Amino acid sequence: LLKAENVKVYFKGKNKKSGVVKAVDDISFEIMKGETFGVVGESGCGKSTLGRTLIRLQDPTEGHIYMDGSDIATLNGKDLKNMRKKAQIIFQDPSACLNPRRTIRQILEEPFVIHGEKDKAFVNQRIEELIKLVGLDTYHLSRYPHEMSGGQKQRVGIARALALNPSLIICDEAVSALDVSVQAQVLNLLQELKEKLGLTYFFISHNLNVVYQVSDRVGVMYLGKMVEIASYDTLYEKRAHPYTKALLSAIPQVTKEEREERIHLQGEVPSPSNPPSGCHFHTRCTSCTQRCKDEEPKLREIEPGHFVACHLYD
Ligand code: SF4
Ligand code: MG
Repeated sequence: LLKAENVKVYFKGKNKKSGVVKAVDDISFEIMKGETFGVVGESGCGKSTLGRTLIRLQDPTEGHIYMDGSDIATLNGKDLKNMRKKAQIIFQDPSACLNPRRTIRQILEEPFVIHGEKDKAFVNQRIEELIKLVGLDTYHLSRYPHEMSGGQKQRVGIARALALNPSLIICDEAVSALDVSVQAQVLNLLQELKEKLGLTYFFISHNLNVVYQVSDRVGVMYLGKMVEIASYDTLYEKRAHPYTKALLSAIPQVTKEEREERIHLQGEVPSPSNPPSGCHFHTRCTSCTQRCKDEEPKLREIEPGHFVACHLYD
């Protein structure tokens, strides 16, 4: 469905000294139609910037993003607007992205207004369909966001994202602000909608447990780089990158046999405006050699569908 090639997103620092922040640093990967591609990494690793760039809420500094055959990295004006119908985003905090002075109906009308839909009857019918699709009722349409719970508001956020029949949805920490029990309900809803509507998700979360529950494939990010990509099962059983191993060892396990020794990462995440030389992870990696400090490891396929960026697997 989407193919990213050498995507870079660099931000200039506030002053000359702070340099350039390489939020997304030369990332290439593909998202298959109908899959959930999960992305994990600590905060500040560039996951959200990557997600926003894939649907051009953020312009890439360099690189190509192919969707339906055209490079959306270069689209402008009307073409960009049309592309936006196909790809939508759901944010973390539903309260922050629903206008408090508008009713749910008005909020759901917005995408149709923006895209110039003038057929009122059609819009009303779609809005009623959408609200039911996300497990709410038509009487919710006359409510204001503050009259709804966090979970209900996130359902409205999902309904709004679905308004124009997109094929790709970026979920950026879509359940992170919700209580654990509500998280499960919203995750189930996302799963149902995916099957019913044939959606594809790019699912961003700092919570590996959540990513694991929903993803077909997972990409692990560290300081603007994708360091490992594999299917859910492969990543779990054959995790290769030292950073992935540390992340996965932190997931609590239920049975004693499954319980593994937790790998504690040393030190802080370095600043993305001044990342370490060579492998960005070398300052925290227990397998680091001189080569790791000198030479950046490239993402390579070590077995079919399993990509790792680490010199240990050369
Ligand atoms: Fe560790 Fe070296 Fe692999 Fe980087 S390249 S993860 S420093 S072993
Ligand atoms: Mg984020």
